[in-house]
Amino acid sequence: MIDFSPSEDLQALTKKVANFVREEIVPMENDPRQGPHGPEESLRQDLVSKGREAGLLTPHAPVEWGGLGLDNMGNALVFEAACYSPLGALALNIQAPDEGNVHLLDKVATDEQKDRWLRPLSEGRIRTVFHMTEPDGGAGSDPSLMKTVAKDDGDSYVINGRKWLISGIGAPGVGLNIIMAKTESVSGEELGASMFLLDGDVPGMKIVRTLDTMDSNTVGAHCEVTYDDVRVPKDQILGEPGKGFRYAQIRLAPARLTHCMRWLGQAVRCQEIAVDYARERVAFGKPIGEHEGVGFQLADNETDLHLARLSTWHCAWILDQGQKGRRESSLAKVFVSEALSRVVDRCVQVLGGLGITADTIVERTYRDIRAFRIYDGPSEVHRWAQARDIMRGA
Ligand SMILES: Cc1cc2nc3c(=O)[nH]c(=O)nc-3n(C[C@H](O)[C@H](O)[C@H](O)COP(=O)(O)OP(=O)(O)OC[C@H]3O[C@@H](n4cnc5c(N)ncnc54)[C@H](O)[C@@H]3O)c2cc1C
Repeated sequence: MIDFSPSEDLQALTKKVANFVREEIVPMENDPRQGPHGPEESLRQDLVSKGREAGLLTPHAPVEWGGLGLDNMGNALVFEAACYSPLGALALNIQAPDEGNVHLLDKVATDEQKDRWLRPLSEGRIRTVFHMTEPDGGAGSDPSLMKTVAKDDGDSYVINGRKWLISGIGAPGVGLNIIMAKTESVSGEELGASMFLLDGDVPGMKIVRTLDTMDSNTVGAHCEVTYDDVRVPKDQILGEPGKGFRYAQIRLAPARLTHCMRWLGQAVRCQEIAVDYARERVAFGKPIGEHEGVGFQLADNETDLHLARLSTWHCAWILDQGQKGRRESSLAKVFVSEALSRVVDRCVQVLGGLGITADTIVERTYRDIRAFRIYDGPSEVHRWAQARDIMRGA
């Protein structure tokens, strides 16, 4: 039987997070250290300091590496409460890609690697970057198209190639780059993709450009990067050579789900703002929420929020049972990303002209949430994979 009822400790923690975000983080939402390429690193550090003082930092990381050690159901409640504000994820150190990288390092890295990178990451002292996607026909929805190559050169690998849409790399504070590349032996034999761990400052790695994108919620934005004879000592490979795609799957199922949890929090806030407006704003003799055209949009939002939460919790529960949850996380990712996009879109509509101004967080949420239907697998790719499973009776 599925039991979603949270323990008393978890209820208390969720309440603490909700109060912390409302009292400490919401008042910072108009901090001027935010622009089209995201919040500045100094703002992130101020937010992390607040999260640390409150004892709420990195709730998903294991206790031994500096986190609170929550399971997936715990994350579901706490992440939603934290992301009531667009700055809440930074304050609790649960922003992508750092959040997913914590999980990946915890599951695959050696103790030495964990000490070097997982500990400072969990303590909010560094940010991390995940390099997979490529321009010019390389790795994207289909990662097997990867062109970046890491060649075995004796005691190290040498990486050459180009990637783009690499989040977070365009600002100070990066202490770890996780680079995926096709691996070749000394004799040129293909060994499959591997993951490599490199410090923040990497000789031979260059940011070619910072992309101008419709979202603006990532410290360090999204960049195009080149690797020109980047040398990685062999003890900085993550796990075993050739197992990169398997490790990417370990990272993906929980990472998809935590996107659902975070966006749920922000969509709930948008709905609150829309409901307040619909109660206050009078047109044609009554509050606009009493006109069916508006009231039904608010009702549809409640349905989408409710089902998005159920889908997220169900998948969290499955992962907590020790199952891989690949199929469920894929289903949840498609449904939740599309349901919450509908919610935020309706909120813009209910707010009228106010909805397209930056006077509420609805406008930035509308811009930021669009990419959720693309990253960690576009909706169509998830549907295609599901359809393939259906047709072969899997
Ligand atoms: C905001 C944001 C942040 C990102 N951050 C990172 C990051 O930090 N690191 C990183 O490595 N990458 C990152 N990405 C890249 C992201 O992972 C890719 O955009 C995603 O995997 C899709 O790849 P693509 O952009 O190359 O799209 P393409 O592979 O070119 O696909 C284009 C479209 O084709 C359609 N399509 C593809 N395959 C199928 C199919 N089988 N059936 C039906 N339709 C299909 C889909 O509609 C898809 O949207 C980020 C992307 C965004 C938008």
